[in-house]
Amino acid sequence: MDSDNSAPPLGDMSAADFRRHGHAIIDWIGEYLENTERYPVLAPVRPNEFRQQLPESAPAQSESMSAIIADVDRLIAPALTHWNHPAFFAYFSISASAPGIFGELLASAFNVNQMLWRTAPAATELEEVTLNWLRQLLGLPAEFAGIIYDTASVSTMHAIAAARENLNLQIRELGMSGRDDLPLLRVYASEQAHSSIEKALLALGLGTRALCKIPTDAEFRMDANALARAIEADKQNGALPFCVVATVGTTSTTSIDPVKEIADVCEAHKLWLHVDAAYGGSAAIVPEMRHVLAGCERADSIVTNPHKWLFAPIDLSVLYCRRMDVLRRAFSLVPEYLRTNDDSEEVRNGMDYGIQLGRRFRSLKLWMVLRYFGHEGLASRIREHCRLARLFAAWVEAAPDWELTAPIPFSLVCFRACPKNVLNENEEQRAARLDALNEAIMHGINATGEAFLSHTKLNGAFVLRLAVGNIRTTEKHVSHAWQLLNEQLSHLT
Ligand code: PLP
Repeated sequence: MDSDNSAPPLGDMSAADFRRHGHAIIDWIGEYLENTERYPVLAPVRPNEFRQQLPESAPAQSESMSAIIADVDRLIAPALTHWNHPAFFAYFSISASAPGIFGELLASAFNVNQMLWRTAPAATELEEVTLNWLRQLLGLPAEFAGIIYDTASVSTMHAIAAARENLNLQIRELGMSGRDDLPLLRVYASEQAHSSIEKALLALGLGTRALCKIPTDAEFRMDANALARAIEADKQNGALPFCVVATVGTTSTTSIDPVKEIADVCEAHKLWLHVDAAYGGSAAIVPEMRHVLAGCERADSIVTNPHKWLFAPIDLSVLYCRRMDVLRRAFSLVPEYLRTNDDSEEVRNGMDYGIQLGRRFRSLKLWMVLRYFGHEGLASRIREHCRLARLFAAWVEAAPDWELTAPIPFSLVCFRACPKNVLNENEEQRAARLDALNEAIMHGINATGEAFLSHTKLNGAFVLRLAVGNIRTTEKHVSHAWQLLNEQLSHLT
């Protein structure tokens, strides 16, 4: 045991040791962020391989901080998939930017629990101020107030809960079971919508049968006429439509549902309109891309995730809601031990707006990111990601053995290999061979550790996805991915 480094018999680490180890950890992080590329982007580990290197039980005695940091370096970092790697192109790539990391560090140092205004005045008000800044950057009207949750899944669950509360069916008091006065409650989203909507219905006791999946057009956007027809049919059958979820930036292709037309349908039927802009919303801060949120000013609620494409470290999701009173009505429940004398009209108590009591000080990292980069700096980075995606798409389009499989409204490219020599068979066999080929290309690339791509299925076909979204990604990384793809293709055909 390194006595110089280990814990004192009581109390926390000394301030002197904190500074010393703190500097060492910041140095480690600086080195890591500068050289993330020295790790394979996708962790080359088998299940349980990592845990086998750890002791079965916790240490009885204090261990030195330097030994702990050494294990982070030796054991943990090599067994992680590196979302900070600039060649992370899978799912939606995200970024822990430096100011965001500092925000996390300070938030954990303050360790405030933002459950009530009184327990964290500055944190509560910073959240409101920062979300008001972000609202303006996104071009949303002032009637929207924002609240931070951990993820879009949780934001959407709260939005649908508010939509249900808005029906005034006394579900808060009576619940939904054992009642014969309730019709089938229905929620509508496109067949391309994220699975988090269905999960919200599970959590809210509505069940997956509450979801009506609306077909999409050739560009994977919700068909608003089909939506109107589905609502009318449900009404005729005695069901109670209450909420529509439109998506700006769907997960598979980043398609944008026609929010204006959907808002017309919602208005006609008096339905709550929730917009899932978890990924795509951030693009609206780029002045020439503001149109991606067109129609969203008519929504009742919108979720966007600064942890996806606004360079805030995970987790940070923002729900903007026009009817905070309804959200509050759905969730506010104040036991005696949490009662305060603060004027409830004047202050916001975070615990009133969701199922959780304790809340982390998440706005600090967003505030630091917005201040450090500024509106123009953030817009330039998002604009550059879109440029890189278009550049990559142009290479795909120009190559005879590759094809694009969806439009590119943001910075995600859906594409696949379709070599001409896989033509001379019947359609079914050809489709199966192309699927197998593209899957093999993806696994081949991911095994190199030099880039990480994911996939989806579009119209039944296996399709590759290259998502540009990491703050450290440059043209060099996109170009290298293209080179790897072509190497894999020639190796496999
Ligand atoms: N909505 C969309 C459109 C998404 O793409 C995702 C995740 O990628 C989610 C919701 C869920 O996000 P979260 O992980 O924040 O719950």
